[in-house]
Amino acid sequence: MAEFENPYAEEDPFVQAHFDCLDCGGKLWEYAIQRQMVCEDCRSVFRSSDIFDAQV
Ligand SMILES: [Zn+2]
Repeated sequence: MAEFENPYAEEDPFVQAHFDCLDCGGKLWEYAIQRQMVCEDCRSVFRSSDIFDAQV
C-alpha cells in the first residue's frame, strides 16, 4: 500500500522549533524563508540568530 503523503507538508513554511519564546515562554515556530521565528502565543517575532544566541 502506498504511503499517504500530505501534499501541503512540504509547502508549509512553518516548522516548529525547539525553542521557547523569550517573552512568554510559548512555543516558537520557525519561518524558514525569512529565518525568523514567531511565537504561537503572543505572536512576537524573533530573528533565528537572536534565539540561538539566547539559548546557548
Ligand atoms: Zn511569546
